[in-house]
Amino acid sequence: MADITYKSKINKIRTFALSLVFIGFIIMYIGLIFKNIGWLMLIFMILGTLSVIFSSVVYFWIGMLSTKAIPIICPSCEKPTKMLGRVDACMHCKQPLTLDKDLEGKEFDESYNSKKKRR
Ligand SMILES: [Zn+2]
Repeated sequence: MADITYKSKINKIRTFALSLVFIGFIIMYIGLIFKNIGWLMLIFMILGTLSVIFSSVVYFWIGMLSTKAIPIICPSCEKPTKMLGRVDACMHCKQPLTLDKDLEGKEFDESYNSKKKRR
């Protein structure tokens, strides 16, 4: 079986936002290669800037999500963590966590969070 490491959703989004910053800088760097072609460099610069701006939007969104997340003490590592949705993973030890008694003991599945499965 493939080794699946569960990641807390907040950490996942944070990683995504961070990678957007890097992508933005890479795009801008590519733009510098085309500095002889003015319009092409401009396009890369705009795309790179947009990517960086978008990442700060995502960071802001994480902040909003964090206020909605339910703070709990992880039963596994006893550190405080935050949960988003019905199932999430501990930020520290990646222990799968659930708020739903029905799902307790069941295999961790991100799809439990999707609206389709909710009754
Ligand atoms: Zn933990």
